[in-house]
Amino acid sequence: MSRPIRATVNTTALSHNLRTVKALAPASKVWSVVKANAYGHGLSRCYEALAFTDGFALLNYEEAILLREAGITQPILLLEGFFKPNDLPLIDAYQLTTAVHSEWQLQALANFPAKKPIAVYLKINNGMNRLGFSPDEVLTIWQRLKVLPSVGEVTLMSHFARADENSIFLREPLQRLAQATTAISAPRCYANSAATLWHPDTHHQWIRPGVVLYGASPSGRAVDIEPYNLRPVMGLHSEIIAIQQVTAGEGIGYGHRYTTTAPQRIGIIACGYADGYPRHAPSGTPVWVAGKLCKTVGTVSMDMLMVDLTNCPEANIGSDVELWGAQLPVDTIAEAAGTVGYELLTAVTQRVPFTTL
Ligand code: PLP
Repeated sequence: MSRPIRATVNTTALSHNLRTVKALAPASKVWSVVKANAYGHGLSRCYEALAFTDGFALLNYEEAILLREAGITQPILLLEGFFKPNDLPLIDAYQLTTAVHSEWQLQALANFPAKKPIAVYLKINNGMNRLGFSPDEVLTIWQRLKVLPSVGEVTLMSHFARADENSIFLREPLQRLAQATTAISAPRCYANSAATLWHPDTHHQWIRPGVVLYGASPSGRAVDIEPYNLRPVMGLHSEIIAIQQVTAGEGIGYGHRYTTTAPQRIGIIACGYADGYPRHAPSGTPVWVAGKLCKTVGTVSMDMLMVDLTNCPEANIGSDVELWGAQLPVDTIAEAAGTVGYELLTAVTQRVPFTTL
């Protein structure tokens, strides 16, 4: 028998979420963002459920090649573009769409004899200050790109730093984008999940949602996506492997960061930070045990964590535990641990076996 921890991927929920997203932006085409191994869910496990998307967006050539070799014919967008000039033959061979964010990439495209014109996403730095050309130079860069024989269709791309907050924070970036691009007749692709949900004025021809496809919240707060009928795709499950009856005033786990206040029944769950459960989750983080909401106690260990079962007499050795999933949003656990669902989803470790539902 193996250790009882497992992760599940609900591909029906994934398809459902893509349909939900499409309905929110009916006039736009959708890049399904599947970078980081489909946000930790496993790209090979997920792409079929997303097969009705208009395109796939990712970072790694390995992931792009996996999709092409699996027969995917939709466009595939490299969100960060290519990393070296000598990556261009591969982009040409696999018919990938590439972001262009820096002058050196433009030069590389100018020097490259593509067999077929390469579709380009011209990336505009609009306040994120990460990748992209400044709004002032976009018109010139666009004019230079569109005359290159190796370049096909050029789309304008930008990425918002604060789309998950009040729309006040988008007013200035949107004005700047509009001003910088008025003279450019090209499709636009600006919206991530947050902008897709909360800023329809950013939708344009293409949107690029990622985390909402997996049923998690772009703001990091589970409550913010409650109105949207999104379904969690990943579940992290385990079992109670031992039970301790502990008297009042005893410390639990490393550092004794939790002390019992009364006699307590403590369940030990086979899941720890080496499985991807956040060590920063404090005592009181919710866990679903035997169909009931319970709370963790003590510091999360490498392979185990502890839960208070005092008010859950139905729980016993072998009882099912949901660490996150359909009953317990991953964002709730992330919030408790001071992080976001994105990080937890992409951090489940290799020793956790995955099952596709
Ligand atoms: N577009 C770009 C350029 C990104 O880097 C990301 C992810 O960080 C996305 C789209 C999707 O973002 P989200 O998962 O918030 O929808």
